[in-house]
Amino acid sequence: MKKMPVIFVGHGSPMNAIEENQFVEEWKKLKNVIPTPKAILSVSAHWFTRGSRIMTSREPKLIYDMYGFPEELYKIVYATKGAPQVANEVCSLLTREVTEDNSWGIDHGTWSVLRRIYPKADIPVLQLSIDANATAREHYKMGQELRKLREQGILIFGSGNVVHNLARVNWDMEQEGFDWAETFDRYIMEAIQLKNHDAVIDYKQAGSSANLSFTTMEHFAPLLYVLGASRMKDQITVFNQSCVLGSLSMTSYLFEEKE
Ligand code: ZN
Repeated sequence: MKKMPVIFVGHGSPMNAIEENQFVEEWKKLKNVIPTPKAILSVSAHWFTRGSRIMTSREPKLIYDMYGFPEELYKIVYATKGAPQVANEVCSLLTREVTEDNSWGIDHGTWSVLRRIYPKADIPVLQLSIDANATAREHYKMGQELRKLREQGILIFGSGNVVHNLARVNWDMEQEGFDWAETFDRYIMEAIQLKNHDAVIDYKQAGSSANLSFTTMEHFAPLLYVLGASRMKDQITVFNQSCVLGSLSMTSYLFEEKE
């Protein structure tokens, strides 16, 4: 059986759940590009916890963890099944302690993108949280440990943003980024294309652009899980490569096995 790809998506605004734009167009194409997964393990920027947590519910709830958006967004239903058996597998693969936690649900980092790729909600979904205490290298290592899921038809799906600094958002820069945002986004892209994962893990090597690109790790960390789960021989496709609103990057990565 062909191994499942791994994907990191820059999710950007929650409005991408309902709006039509060039980013969403690329998300919709994924369904036809990759094999249909048996389940999706999502690592969303929006589940940031002390220690690693895993969702084991058979019928996970949807949560609307964003504020001040149009009413339409809070009416979205994305009723997927959960994947408790995949949760068990995740716990056995990870060498660190993982706590079962169904107090969270499928958050907008996950559903705002998945509803555009798989609108029928017919693929089971579970989330693994991002441990706020883990280092970049520890996130990457967890991704490596989860790599085996690819052989079982499970899609490892990271949802975040390489550049994510809401304090510096500039609404006049709708389709562009500040120089430092573009610089950091390019630094990460080049490191990924060169398969120099250490340069991504040690992102501070990028210099001052790294300090401005994010102040907390949660939107960057999903990329580290995906990178850890990738293989050196995977073919890499970069899509939605761009910065928006000055300080957000939509740049996304698909890693897939090719004969
Ligand atoms: Zn977000």
